[in-house]
Amino acid sequence: MGKVLFDNGSHKCIVFDDIMRESELKGGDIQSNQFLIIHGDAGGYEEGLLFDPGGSKLIQPLHQRLKSHVSTNRIKKIVLSHQDPDTGAGAAQWMMFTNTTTKIYVSDLWVRFIPHFSRSDFAQEVFVPVPDKGMRIDHNGAEIILLPAHFLHSPGNFQLYDTASKILFSGDLGTSIMSGENTFGPVVDFEAQVKYMEGFHKRYLASEKACRLWAQMVRKLDIEAIVPQHGERYFEGKKTVNKFIDWIENLKCGVDLFSNESYAVPGKSTAS
Ligand code: FE
Repeated sequence: MGKVLFDNGSHKCIVFDDIMRESELKGGDIQSNQFLIIHGDAGGYEEGLLFDPGGSKLIQPLHQRLKSHVSTNRIKKIVLSHQDPDTGAGAAQWMMFTNTTTKIYVSDLWVRFIPHFSRSDFAQEVFVPVPDKGMRIDHNGAEIILLPAHFLHSPGNFQLYDTASKILFSGDLGTSIMSGENTFGPVVDFEAQVKYMEGFHKRYLASEKACRLWAQMVRKLDIEAIVPQHGERYFEGKKTVNKFIDWIENLKCGVDLFSNESYAVPGKSTAS
């Protein structure tokens, strides 16, 4: 039904981490987390924002779960960290079966790609292209900052910093690939967690330079937690948050690790 990450009475952050685990949807798909941020104004009127609502087949079960937190016709904004199907395909699905005035925020680079996920046409005005430098969004009175995180991993990539909860929703950054069925919770031993993160980050992120620039930017923010889109672990408390930022800052990854061998023409198949 979703786990509450933050609740001060008027502002709530909820993660749905188990839709695939609880349903027949698990297949071989990578596990993904979906996020709902609800903000009530001084008059008690609430609105919801979805961050990375997941792939097409997750949208109906997500819609069911959302109902226990907020009326789904009050979900006015969907923000996509990037263009991948596990983050963005569900947004097109949402527009097909809800008849709301939801706006979809997505990188300017991908705004003309996301409609390809849809089987029906919807107006271009649905989309709000996010410029490379990022932007601030008014979410029913709460301030949301879309931070540039380009090449970590997508070339047009954003993270969502929620100023009320001080949670940084980091998209693919911070992903842990753990085996087995784990319950969602904070990292207890950062050093032990690295082995579940290394493989993903070294191959999916573009370069150490992008990591370093990102680290320099986020150190200027007051962050209580970093919560990624994949995996059942997140970074809670300043000490662990800083350990994660330090780790990313000096991570050799992507093109740093590539060589001539990475681009060698494959040899002839020995299979008959
Ligand atoms: Fe991705």
